[in-house]
Amino acid sequence: MSNLKFKKEDIIAVLKSVLKEDQIVNINNFNNEVLLDIIPSNPTHKAKSELSKTIIETLKNDYNSNFDYKIDFKSIPKTIQNNDSEVLSSVKNVIAISSAKGGVGKSTVTSNIAVTLKEMGFKVGILDADIYGPSMHIMFDLIGRKPLAVDVDGKSKMKPIESFGIKILSIGFFTKMDQAVIWRGPMATKALNQLIFDADWGDLDFLLIDLPPGTGDIHLSIMQKISVNGAVVVSTPQIVALADARKGVTMYRQENINIPILGIVENMSYYIPDLKTQEKHYIFGKDGAKNMSEDFDIPFLGEVPIIQGLREAGDIGRPGALQDDSEIKKIFSEMTKTLIECLLERNKKLPPTEILKIKTMAGCS
Ligand code: ADP
Repeated sequence: MSNLKFKKEDIIAVLKSVLKEDQIVNINNFNNEVLLDIIPSNPTHKAKSELSKTIIETLKNDYNSNFDYKIDFKSIPKTIQNNDSEVLSSVKNVIAISSAKGGVGKSTVTSNIAVTLKEMGFKVGILDADIYGPSMHIMFDLIGRKPLAVDVDGKSKMKPIESFGIKILSIGFFTKMDQAVIWRGPMATKALNQLIFDADWGDLDFLLIDLPPGTGDIHLSIMQKISVNGAVVVSTPQIVALADARKGVTMYRQENINIPILGIVENMSYYIPDLKTQEKHYIFGKDGAKNMSEDFDIPFLGEVPIIQGLREAGDIGRPGALQDDSEIKKIFSEMTKTLIECLLERNKKLPPTEILKIKTMAGCS
């Protein structure tokens, strides 16, 4: 069985009956195994498993029944093609961070990944698009600050405010602390447009977008305007949070959105009340988000325990991952490294030199 004759062109020809040619990303052969990387036209689990069965049956019947066929489904990498903003063209990677439920730690995760990327040497910005509960101005000690206007090629633009080296724009700069921002859809969308398009972001390696919880109009509006390279979904392991997180995953996979999900972060995974015993208490349930990532075939980016210092760091406006030699720093360094690996995996269009540069900066293997 080990010296089977393998011909890529013949496989492509046979699969014409079940796939479009551009759905076949790669075909490799090792001994009697043929590995196919395929972009599914329908990304649901059920559709993928049916497609996988059809491909294997077709190849067994019409090509060679002695090979062992393995299918690996890939997401379509988004390119900056529908980006109508010249300003955002100087941003290399846009990552949306979302949670379907509020209060699960989406902003905490965003702020800590941002400072970790910055410490790796990347140029980083955060757009706090959580119109209904902005928090970046608090987490980066910018309460009461207002962005200045600058002239860019004759146009007046908002200059993001820098804190710990991160460029930040937040709807929180324009509202009073105790004022609930209950805007209606069109007003919220207009305000967001200004933060995105009337801003002087300059050169950035990463722009992280802290989305509002849920799966509403704001999300659609952002995804349609900006070319988002990938999304991160944050959830606690709790069943109600997971049910909502599933909706979030489905949203990104909708045909009209189709943004690759880079991974799932499980926040508030457990609590260690006694440092001596190190016994973990699974307050919100165990491994819920981890299991969900397996069900949906999405990378798991890591778990963050409940840490009092992480909450305190957010409240005083200095993200916890900035604390040297801390557990928090270690957790977010690992998570950010995994995130970068997942991003590179999905963005095959980057030149090899750029990939090497990013990997070296992030300390990836
Ligand atoms: P979201 O953006 O999803 O609404 P936040 O990041 O604002 O959630 O977090 C909600 C609250 O929970 C904040 O007070 C934050 O400091 C706290 N928090 C988030 N994650 C953790 C954690 N892992 N340990 C301790 N507190 C946390």
